[in-house]
Amino acid sequence: MANYSRFQKHLTDELTGIKEAGLYKEERIIVSPQSVKIRLNTGQEVLNFCANNYLGLSDNAGLISAAEKAMKDRGYGMSSVRFICGTQDLHKELEKTIADFFGTEDTILYAACFDANGGVFEPLLTDQDAIISDSLNHASIIDGVRLCKAVRYRYANADMADLEAQLQKAQEQRFRLIVTDGVFSMDGNVAPLDKIYELAQKYDAMVMVDESHSAGVVGKTGRGTTEQYNLKGKIEILTGTLGKAFGGAIGGFTTGKKEIIDMLRQRSRPYLFSNSLPPSVVGAGIYTFQLLDRSNELQDKLHANTEYFNKKMVAAGFDVKPTQSAICAVMLYDAKLSQEMASELSKEGIYVTGFYYPVVPKGQARIRVQLSAAHEQEHLDKCIEAFTKVGKKLGVLK
Ligand SMILES: *Cc1c(COP(=O)(O)O)cnc(C)c1O
Repeated sequence: MANYSRFQKHLTDELTGIKEAGLYKEERIIVSPQSVKIRLNTGQEVLNFCANNYLGLSDNAGLISAAEKAMKDRGYGMSSVRFICGTQDLHKELEKTIADFFGTEDTILYAACFDANGGVFEPLLTDQDAIISDSLNHASIIDGVRLCKAVRYRYANADMADLEAQLQKAQEQRFRLIVTDGVFSMDGNVAPLDKIYELAQKYDAMVMVDESHSAGVVGKTGRGTTEQYNLKGKIEILTGTLGKAFGGAIGGFTTGKKEIIDMLRQRSRPYLFSNSLPPSVVGAGIYTFQLLDRSNELQDKLHANTEYFNKKMVAAGFDVKPTQSAICAVMLYDAKLSQEMASELSKEGIYVTGFYYPVVPKGQARIRVQLSAAHEQEHLDKCIEAFTKVGKKLGVLK
């Protein structure tokens, strides 16, 4: 057999296995802009409750104009990495705007937060150092840690006793960095940053928070976990994405202590060896942070929507995980039930996703609802109504 036919059979067998395990991922095709109301290629119109469009900015007219203007003024693409000839004044302005937003010293942009996390550990730490990582951290943090020679310690999700035990072990190393997601995307819980910070002080460690699901969402003005816990400017490293609350296009960043950012500009491989963000994305990014600076309307509305939705779902009898984010995990426990429920909800015009093992622990299947500032009360009511109807039909509610 020729090379490829053997490999082809291997892939086909693996893919069949994935399908038989019920883990095969299909793309659902949208033929409208990303928004609360979206149109699918089947012709169906649904209300979207599974986007990371927390502030409802994905189809915002102001962002689109800002992107158009930047593209007209500064062109389509940069055709370069940042340090050769890929840095415009707009890139520097966005970096400063992000630092001002989070109350940090400096910022470095990446093509995505996946790259920010992939490129943050290896330039800063060596085999003499330690990384102490939450067990539920995002895949990109796990990959980033793998690229670094530092000694790895893992603690159970948000478990401060375990973190303390790991920090004690890590006293052998030279420098220690605790790493956590700001909001854990499957449960919606916020990392206990106040306690993490205390332990970091006690055991001479630095802290890094990935604010991807918390920036724009957590804290009264959406500045993330450092606002929530009154730790602005005290955390050494924050990473985040422009692909969620902040317009949802593409782009990531690391923001924090200026020497750290300076070193990343010298040595961070996804920054050195990958293309610059295009002017349209950068221009719209600047506009986004200015918009959120001028008014707190979107953040307030998101918080009100989240509170309203959670209260009503609990009142309807659903088992909802306590959340401090815009993520509401409706617990069903049974994998098959979570898929049936999502499918029935979709027939009711409600677009949500059911998650089960291995995305969440065995026996912890759920539907994850994501709220947005773009949801109106009628949308929330429709969603709750559909959940109640389907919940009764499938025996989730009595
Ligand atoms: C979404 C997400 C990322 C990846 O962000 P991109 O900009 O889409 O690459 C990284 N970390 C966390 C915690 C995320 O939720």
